[in-house]
Amino acid sequence: ESQFVTYDEADILPGDEDDQVASPSSASDEMAELRKNLPVYAYRQDFLNTLETNQVLIVVGETGSGKTTQLPQYLYEAGYSKNNLAIACTQPRRVAATSIATRVAYEMNVKLGQEVGYTIRFDDKSSKDTVIKYVTDGMLLREFLTDPQLSHYSAIMIDEAHERTISTEILLGLLKDITVTRPQLKIIIASATINAEKFSSFFNNAPILNIPGRRFPVKIHYTKSPEANYIQAALTTIFQIHTTQESGDILVFLTGQEEIETMEEALNDSIDKLGDQIEPMMVCSIYANMASEVQSKIFDPPPQGTRKVVLATNIAETSITIDGIKYVIDPGYVKQNKYNPGTGMESLVIVPCSRASADQRAGRAGRIGPGKCFRLFTKWCFYNELEANPVPEILRTNLTSVILLLLSLGINDLLKFEFMDPPSKQSIIKALELLYALGALNSQGKLTKTGQKMTEFPLDPILTKCILMSSKFGVTIQTCAIIAMISESTNLFYRPKGKAELADARKAQFHHDLGDHFTLLNIWRAWKDYGYSKEWCRDCFINYKTLQRAKNVYAQLIRLCSKIGGAEMLQENKEDEDRMIQKALISGFFMNVCRLSRMGDGYERLKGSTGGCFIHPSSALYKTKPKLVIYYELVLTSKEYMRCCSVVDDKLVKEMAGHYYVNK
Ligand code: ADP
Ligand code: MG
Repeated sequence: ESQFVTYDEADILPGDEDDQVASPSSASDEMAELRKNLPVYAYRQDFLNTLETNQVLIVVGETGSGKTTQLPQYLYEAGYSKNNLAIACTQPRRVAATSIATRVAYEMNVKLGQEVGYTIRFDDKSSKDTVIKYVTDGMLLREFLTDPQLSHYSAIMIDEAHERTISTEILLGLLKDITVTRPQLKIIIASATINAEKFSSFFNNAPILNIPGRRFPVKIHYTKSPEANYIQAALTTIFQIHTTQESGDILVFLTGQEEIETMEEALNDSIDKLGDQIEPMMVCSIYANMASEVQSKIFDPPPQGTRKVVLATNIAETSITIDGIKYVIDPGYVKQNKYNPGTGMESLVIVPCSRASADQRAGRAGRIGPGKCFRLFTKWCFYNELEANPVPEILRTNLTSVILLLLSLGINDLLKFEFMDPPSKQSIIKALELLYALGALNSQGKLTKTGQKMTEFPLDPILTKCILMSSKFGVTIQTCAIIAMISESTNLFYRPKGKAELADARKAQFHHDLGDHFTLLNIWRAWKDYGYSKEWCRDCFINYKTLQRAKNVYAQLIRLCSKIGGAEMLQENKEDEDRMIQKALISGFFMNVCRLSRMGDGYERLKGSTGGCFIHPSSALYKTKPKLVIYYELVLTSKEYMRCCSVVDDKLVKEMAGHYYVNK
């Protein structure tokens, strides 16, 4: 059906070829045997001994060597959970936290949520019996708010430190502070790669424990010429591998859920079409936000004679190891948030990954034996166009939430806070300005009552502001529903092939003249009226799991509201509901107000605009193009699109955001 992708044969990623062959673990093997077979096991005693005499230890080891699953267990076995203390292990990604906790609970033969648990935003599967807790770095950061000394823990493992997420980075700074006041607290920094020196010197030359992994050489193939459509090229390559290469599973790196779903559908279509002409293939996928019941499918070994194809985001780069992978297909992209402190604009963009990432990805093919990696870009591109390392998140993100958190921890002099890579002064100032505009800070830069309330919510301060203001207008319940829906809305609808038009028509039934926030509210209410039914979701082509998550988020937001404001906060005002909701939305999103430009169909932000943006084709407002809109987020694909837009008007903007536009 499609053209062949042609490859150059070029590089070999070296491995320790003479190393023993990892015996493919069969399900019948004893768990203890399995655990002892992991490379990290040989260093168990070293690890524990070094920690006895050192407060901080850096552990570096190839992905899959057993750091994440084993080290917390070693600590537990060595008695670190005595005196009611617990061991925490952070993960940058929610899926990794849940999936690894599940695995470790299984290894320890306990029920998830008891001795082994996890805590991610809006989902806490831990209890007072939990001694090993996998937690997202963002959630551990929030624990500082209630327990600034983390006195509940005997050891904290900061995992995947090489990823340098913003939460991890702030955690490192805060942990460095409490090493002084809590000499008994052990800190382990685990990283898949290099840069260990940087962590070591940050922690006053803490010792580094190196765990050599088992790795086999991986032959790297580059395309001869650039591929315009990497999804198509990846698809073609899958079949090329399947029809010409010996057995072994395939791992494909894609940037997000949408891409993965598109690819999964196309792949299954082709497999169906080819029928008996090819050997059987089994397709599975993993991405952030994936329901945990389906996650585990990627770990299931395929039936004899079937090749498994795993479609994954960069979660499979280092956080999660899938056994049996022999072929890696790497288009060379990653989805990242990008922030421009000059304009305050933030958007999600798909960008080329770094050389370090590409090599990590390739390495995934060399775990069971020599492997192959197919890069869907040229060799020239690899050496000349890719950055050597990814840019730490703190240097490319909006700092508002983090700075609010630091301020509420009493860290007022942000310029003195110890960052491994300090963010630019400009982005700190931008964040302070936004917090001030949101009413979280007063003119002296001190936290206000509003600011203090904001820290109670595990949400972006902008969203929290909407909720806090909504109570003034008697629409807190509605606003919480909208925000719960928004935060889960990227994959709310699905459009099955052949039924796309019907799905679009169903979706259009919910469209509200005022825009997408109201459309989401319509959906929420309709679902509720139908008793939160699964069948109803299926009829409307709505993702049931997504709605369930939104329902859970909603319940927690309402709980937080009654905690900080009591029943009063949840009082409803039925008059002029729509307008009151608009007011609540503008109170937080005032910086995201855009005006239709006089020419064309583009929009300009009222303040700080850098160019046109457009209403997303999925929006209820796509055709109507109102004069003034407010949006939730920008997504950059072929154009800069505003996702989730609603109508506002000048009067509302003046009333709710006058302070922000005063010098306009
Ligand atoms: P590291 O953190 O060093 O990358 P891990 O501790 O995550 O390594 O993984 C160690 C081993 O545990 C992996 O090689 C993998 O085979 C196995 N493993 C991890 N999670 C699962 C799972 N959910 N199902 C089956 N095996 C798993
Ligand atoms: Mg790990």
